[in-house]
Amino acid sequence: MRHAENPPNPYHKYTAEYVGEPPDTKLEIFEETATKSMIVKSWSPDLGRRFVVNCYRGCVHGCTYCFARQYHEMIGFGAGTDFETKLVAKVNAPEVLRNELKRTRQKIPYLEFSFASDPYVPIEANYELTRGCLEVCREFRIPVFVLTKSPLVTRDLDILKDLDATVGFSIPFLSVKTSKPFEPYVPTPEARFRAMEKVAAEGITVALALAPVIPGYNDQEIPEILKKARECGASKAFMSLVHFATESVEEYFLKRLNEELPTKAAKIENRIKGEKGGSMIHRSMTERNAGRTESWKVIKDVFELHMRKLGYEKYERVEPGIRQSLPVQRSLF
Ligand code: SF4
Repeated sequence: MRHAENPPNPYHKYTAEYVGEPPDTKLEIFEETATKSMIVKSWSPDLGRRFVVNCYRGCVHGCTYCFARQYHEMIGFGAGTDFETKLVAKVNAPEVLRNELKRTRQKIPYLEFSFASDPYVPIEANYELTRGCLEVCREFRIPVFVLTKSPLVTRDLDILKDLDATVGFSIPFLSVKTSKPFEPYVPTPEARFRAMEKVAAEGITVALALAPVIPGYNDQEIPEILKKARECGASKAFMSLVHFATESVEEYFLKRLNEELPTKAAKIENRIKGEKGGSMIHRSMTERNAGRTESWKVIKDVFELHMRKLGYEKYERVEPGIRQSLPVQRSLF
């Protein structure tokens, strides 16, 4: 049993602390019925323009590095255990998406599922909201990119096969031993590789997301992860540097890091700070995924060298020629 543990919410004027032992956490599911729009349009200098769909808020997978934790703070929850145990299901998601696409289909070139939660959090097995939205994408013939850490995605192969779909698996660690300190409740890397194999066997394009790279921790595993994913059918890959946008997410990450890896924590923290110019938090969206040191250049070179050697294509999220063409919208929920 875990105790509730959340850093102060920067969107709240006041912060309260528990007197004595904090209460135990418990899984709570909230149903959101007032959803008005399912497509979030965003633009950032490093990722370009994006059209993102999320059927859930919060994620039980609980990756300690997850940047989506800050979106939970925006709706009044905490970025720590609240993010992992208080889930919101947008129960009208497929219907809202369908109505939205009736009006906007011509302006939506593709949809990405992920980034504010995993589209295949365990409650998706019952709610089937991501599945419902994929069915809508099939009706409107919209290409999709689905990024997940869950083998539950294989349930929807029947729909994904009919779509122009790329399924991305986020696998930044090779083994349970290296994954667990950062991905406490996520299906094991082995389970994700097996799911990848199943998706690729259906002729669906599979991408490996080696994200995040935590310098000084998992960069050594890059060649092996690329090799294994290629053997499991991945044909595209990308990687990104671990990044933090808010102090609260940084605080939670460092706390868990010190609990899980006490002898390595200081080194990892210093390496991340080295890449970000002395702070854990990037100063701009341009710097979010850009390390500053020679070591980072070496990590990128190793990634690209093995990509080429193994015959990967680079996964390009940004469409050429349309950078700067949409207004910036940072929140992805
Ligand atoms: S699976 Fe994705 S959304 Fe869920 S906690 Fe991990 S990084 Fe965040």
